[in-house]
Amino acid sequence: MSSSARIPATLIAGDGIGPEIVESAVAVMEALGSPFEWDRQEAGAAAMKAAGDPLPAATLDSIRRTRLALKGPLETPSGGGWRSSNVRLREEFRLFANVRPARTIIPGGRFDNIDLLLIRENLEGLYIGHEHYVQIDDDPHAVAMATGINTRQGCRHILEYAFETAIALGRKKVTVVHKANIMKALTGIFLETAQQMHAERYKDRIAMDTIIVDACAMKLVLNPWQFDTLVTTNLFGDILSDLTAGLVGGLGMAPGANIGADAAIFEAVHGSAPDIAGKGLANPTALLLAAAQMLDHVKHHESANRLRKAIDDTLNVDQVRTGDLGGKAGTREYTQALVARIKQG
Ligand code: ATP
Ligand code: MG
Repeated sequence: MSSSARIPATLIAGDGIGPEIVESAVAVMEALGSPFEWDRQEAGAAAMKAAGDPLPAATLDSIRRTRLALKGPLETPSGGGWRSSNVRLREEFRLFANVRPARTIIPGGRFDNIDLLLIRENLEGLYIGHEHYVQIDDDPHAVAMATGINTRQGCRHILEYAFETAIALGRKKVTVVHKANIMKALTGIFLETAQQMHAERYKDRIAMDTIIVDACAMKLVLNPWQFDTLVTTNLFGDILSDLTAGLVGGLGMAPGANIGADAAIFEAVHGSAPDIAGKGLANPTALLLAAAQMLDHVKHHESANRLRKAIDDTLNVDQVRTGDLGGKAGTREYTQALVARIKQG
């Protein structure tokens, strides 16, 4: 059993379906006797409305103190408006690795027995936000430009994390996903660093192969079982992790952990789902699986496994499922079924 000392952790409800799925997670974690003592803070559009700042100082201070957060989705306006609070949080706490497992929980779907681990570089590449327009004649937006930056050090950091994590979890292979044929510098540095690091330090400990991102996308759909652990740069990881979520039942089933040296933030891969917000329809499983990752992170493996087992039994034995999974349950009904499962032992 895990120790009974309470672990302070920041809790952010977020936007759209955020408050609904975060309440579900709080209820489930409570039933589980989770070790976390929540410090509730705001971010995203909710914080913009309440405090005029999508990432208030109080929220940053809280995470600085707890070094641990469970977070609902934060809305980012497209085009203009403020910069993504998700991206700012990753930068603020140097959360360099985004760990996104995709595992089949409900058998009999289009793809069975999926067990993929996607590790996405979280700080560099085309996400750094160096973007601008160039004016020609009287059109101020005649040309749009973006700069991507990948550093040797950043590549080493994420690749070392990927190799070490894959080895620690007993996984079979690491696939390095790139586009070095076109972006010869920007993603060539990632590929080269991987090949060198593998040859020098990992070739006797785990297999590695490399693949171009477009071919990877196709092969993930044709035969996902040929992959095991994938590691890639920021934008490709963003896109491929939605793809791998699709392989296991959609965004409602895909959790993610943002890992840094000084903090870790756990969240669902999906966004704020404004189309179903406030209707009690959202599937909280992705956030609950993120909470399980958070329990693993603080080494409460037994609780993490109990949570995953309760999710599995609720979906497959009790067959209580939300609408995105073809079921009839609302968020609350599904949460109650989960709590009942946990209390049964
Ligand atoms: P954002 O801009 O915040 O990313 P979005 O419009 O891209 O929002 P997503 O949250 O990425 O929306 O969701 C895409 C689709 O998947 C939507 O139709 C949404 O309803 C659905 N979806 C996402 N998450 C869930 C969930 N947890 N439960 C049920 N449906 C979901
Ligand atoms: Mg989205």
